[in-house]
Amino acid sequence: MHIVHFASEMAPVAKVGGLADVLLGLPRELSFRGCDVDILLPKYDCMDSSQVRDLAIVVKEMPVSFEGSSFATTVWEGWVENIKVYFIEPHHPRHFFHRGCFYGCDDDIDRYLFFCRAGLEYLARAVIAPDILHLHDWQSAAVAPLYYEHFRPRGYAKPRLIFTIHNIDYQGICPQKAIAKVGLDFEEMASREKLGDDYREGYLNLLKGGIIYSDLVTTVSPNYAKEVLTPEGGRGLEMVLRRYLSKFKGILNGIDYHYWNPETDRFLPARYSSREMPRDHEDSATLDKKAYIKRVVREQLHLAQDHRPIVGCITRLVPQKGISLIKYTLKRTLEKGGQFLLLGHSPIPEINAEFHLIGETYLDHPHAHLQLTLDEEFGHRLFAASDMLIVPSLFEPCGLTQMIALRYGTIPIVRKTGGLADTIIDVDYSGKPFEETNGYSFDFPDATGVDSALNRAFACWYEDPDRWRRLMVNGMRRDFSWERPAEEYHTLYRSLLQ
Ligand code: ADP
Repeated sequence: MHIVHFASEMAPVAKVGGLADVLLGLPRELSFRGCDVDILLPKYDCMDSSQVRDLAIVVKEMPVSFEGSSFATTVWEGWVENIKVYFIEPHHPRHFFHRGCFYGCDDDIDRYLFFCRAGLEYLARAVIAPDILHLHDWQSAAVAPLYYEHFRPRGYAKPRLIFTIHNIDYQGICPQKAIAKVGLDFEEMASREKLGDDYREGYLNLLKGGIIYSDLVTTVSPNYAKEVLTPEGGRGLEMVLRRYLSKFKGILNGIDYHYWNPETDRFLPARYSSREMPRDHEDSATLDKKAYIKRVVREQLHLAQDHRPIVGCITRLVPQKGISLIKYTLKRTLEKGGQFLLLGHSPIPEINAEFHLIGETYLDHPHAHLQLTLDEEFGHRLFAASDMLIVPSLFEPCGLTQMIALRYGTIPIVRKTGGLADTIIDVDYSGKPFEETNGYSFDFPDATGVDSALNRAFACWYEDPDRWRRLMVNGMRRDFSWERPAEEYHTLYRSLLQ
């Protein structure tokens, strides 16, 4: 089976958030199952090309029709891990992917519309006709109407389409005429039955187009699949999703167990596993090494080496992630005698400025360290060195950090929403046997909610270290790899080919 993904991110080449991790983990697992998987990605000037092997041009000056003109586009090919990736480089006067950033430009809609058109153009010209085109989020949603309204009637007709919603908050709302730039009839597209936005007169909703035109639609956790059918969770698309319920499914994301593995992690000063006793005399990757890593990380960050738990937080700093609750947890952790590590980055200038100010007040603090960058290496160390990870999201489609934390023996404290509710089983209140529990959760996204979980976690860490250690091991032994989700996607793909 041949699958081509259209995506705007892929780890570790072009990563902003969890979407990038999915675009590495899922294709890799599918390829291990014998699928032939390729990815189409914009060729960003700021991507990490050192992560791409054998990067070479495959088509130098492919004409791509956009805004009624033709623009030369170069297509590159290279390998990321064992996955073939095609990179689209437009030679448009607006230099769509030479902006020094991935997202956040005023013309993001045009940038990704061009990407969709150019990607399909390349596949059709190179006669690459996979069984499945798998699209992700609004950035590649326009592929769906383009394929069914433009390319298919002209003979490029083999693939079936699957569309995954990673976050329904981002919908790609644009003026009606924008879609004409890729050669679609904007008046036809503007119909409410098609891409016409249901709430904004004169606007289209690209995400809605992905839902309506794709053969199957998924989202990234079973619980979020239920939440998006409600007025609160659906952000205006709940009725559209309800209309297409028969082709809609929630599949929990996995994490890449080769990349996120404390036993082999190249970013850590020591390796560890859930094993408390060494396997043989050569085995040094035992659980106690986690404490050693905590010591090394504290030393590097000039934090005090006291008997205190570390609460970690690694996140995009956007309102969805519960900004005020992150600040509250920082304050409460210090009041309760813990230490706090934050690794955050924000596309929102006001939030960035606010956290830089907070960071300054904790400069040289013995119990807090705030780093406001995207830093893969520090990310791995934070997961390993922390005792707890706070994820107080207002909503969370799936969330990967809580699953990574579990793998690293770090106990998640999460708001019970979306995929967080699917993955974190509260040790005190879930009613499940202890062996099935793995963290702490709270219902309401407020200070009382955070306290209710944080207090319980601190009490257990200080007063019952043996129970804490067993809770760590519960989490480390639970399987959140891509194995099961990839099987589910494979089954969905197969259902489309029958
Ligand atoms: P989202 O996709 O909404 O940002 P997820 O939890 O699904 O959230 O995925 C976040 C991913 O980004 C995880 O792999 C996490 O480790 C990583 N990440 C978040 N912030 C940073 C940062 N500042 N530096 C490095 N990695 C980060």
